[in-house]
Amino acid sequence: MTTVSPKGPRSRPDTRVLPDPTWESRSFWQGGANGELLIHRCQSCHRLFHPPAPACFRCRSTDVVPEPVSGCATVAAVSVNVHQWLPGFPPPYAVAIVELDDDPTVRLTTNVVDCDPWEVHIGMAVVVRFERWDDTWIPIFVPVAP
Ligand SMILES: [Zn+2]
Repeated sequence: MTTVSPKGPRSRPDTRVLPDPTWESRSFWQGGANGELLIHRCQSCHRLFHPPAPACFRCRSTDVVPEPVSGCATVAAVSVNVHQWLPGFPPPYAVAIVELDDDPTVRLTTNVVDCDPWEVHIGMAVVVRFERWDDTWIPIFVPVAP
């Protein structure tokens, strides 16, 4: 089944529910200002992790810092929402979990846009793009051009 809104695949809704960044998550939500997807890396065990936290969940080190990653990812799970939960955010749209190519154990819940939401599938290569709302840059993903 293929359904696209009358306007075609959308790249931006008219409204978003924005996060309330914490000290730890501010870099994640504002990295897009410089075109960077910033993910916390533990300086002790050198592993990336998400969501941002003051300590590494693996080794408990508090020596953690956000650093830019490639922004390339692979869709690990997807659901197409068809219910209009918010005015200005009309369905259908794809809600996906993507695994970062830098470390597939790091997963982000996001939207995949600029394509038919019904064509988003597990294993699809995607790349980050940022949707700016005031001082927040929401990391969303688009298909990698074939
Ligand atoms: Zn660690």
